[in-house]
Amino acid sequence: MQLYTKILIALGLGVATGATANLAEIEWLRGILVSLEPVGTVFIRLITMIVIPLVISSLLVGTASLGDIRKLGRIGSKTFGYYMLTTVLAISLGLVVSNLFKPGSRIDPTTRDRLAANFEGKAKTSIDAAAKAPTLKDVLVNLVPRNPVQAAAEFDLLPLIFFSIVFGAAVSLVDGPPREAVLAFFDGISRASMIVIGWVMLIAPYAVFALIASVVAQFGLDLLRSLMLYTLVVAGGLLLHVFGTVGFMVYFAARMSPVEFFKRIVEVPLFAFSTSSSNATLPVSISTAERKLGISKEIGSFVLPLGATINMDGTALYQAVAVMFIAQIYGIDLTWTQQLTVVVTATLASVGAAGVPSAGLITLIIVLQSIGLGNRVEAGIALILGVDRILDMLRTAVNVTGDMSCAAFIARTEGEDLHPAVSRVEAGTV
Ligand code: ASP
Repeated sequence: MQLYTKILIALGLGVATGATANLAEIEWLRGILVSLEPVGTVFIRLITMIVIPLVISSLLVGTASLGDIRKLGRIGSKTFGYYMLTTVLAISLGLVVSNLFKPGSRIDPTTRDRLAANFEGKAKTSIDAAAKAPTLKDVLVNLVPRNPVQAAAEFDLLPLIFFSIVFGAAVSLVDGPPREAVLAFFDGISRASMIVIGWVMLIAPYAVFALIASVVAQFGLDLLRSLMLYTLVVAGGLLLHVFGTVGFMVYFAARMSPVEFFKRIVEVPLFAFSTSSSNATLPVSISTAERKLGISKEIGSFVLPLGATINMDGTALYQAVAVMFIAQIYGIDLTWTQQLTVVVTATLASVGAAGVPSAGLITLIIVLQSIGLGNRVEAGIALILGVDRILDMLRTAVNVTGDMSCAAFIARTEGEDLHPAVSRVEAGTV
């Protein structure tokens, strides 16, 4: 049985068991499922543990074997352009669907205030976290790490990417045996990381069951009912983005059959859905890009870590819908200029969000403040908090799918042979 089939079965069983415990109020079952949460957490820690060694080693080896630093510049600008374009398309789609379906217009003020009161405390915590978010200037300055070890320890991927590229480029200029020695060392680390990923994936189906069942068992289903239209509009927008925009890009830009593409990468969004974290999914995306799509290490190890940090189409789309929803629910009509502001700030907010659970909710606060929702921000966040976990799962799956499509696009335009008949691993080229 394919791994993704097993993960899908685990997901289905997890949802079914969690929902049964929740709906039928079977307290003992709910207790057991909730107590499974640490199993999921350990699993996420296991896979996240590989991210730093994997990113440094593959990026360093990748950059050193590029041969030409100009190629790196070209790949970099294409990647950045692709990421920004798809993010803006995602936000626009989010605005269109929420203007069409007006998810916030059908909730009466009593329900609204009851929902907002539910999560008052949590919303305050998020607002405090948003106040501490670094500004764009900080992000740009911090791109250059003062100490790469510290960047690694703090899971700061952007400065780490910067360091590994500079170092990889330098290694390629070292003469003779020392260069070979450094490359062989990091290549060994990269291969060993892949082996660990293989091991961790063996237990993925069980961990996915634990993760999903415990989330569903704890989920406030009555909240979902009140916020159903909002949830559906976000989910519908995300589906349209994946099968519309991303499918279109895969077909026209990466010149690959979208069906084939989705079939080959399906483990990546499934994994992202289960963990709500682009960072934790990174090992799976890098290894899937190499093994299933035949994308080279040079491209995958650059495009994907960058994408996990700065490219979040799903988050951006979600933020657009959330802003419109909160505005509609308070009867505020957003002008075209304000909606344009949303396009700009949500792009920045999705770039600024880290690839960890709930990060998009925190940066959403910045978007809400930018259009002057002022004292509605806290209540607005409290309103949508109840369904945020499920939406986080969905948007993370879309975020990583966008990254994978960019990797395919870059590989294709750099002349790589995508979707080879036999994967690179079977052919012995990886
Ligand atoms: N959880 C998302 C991710 O890791 C970020 C977000 O909260 O939107 O990609």
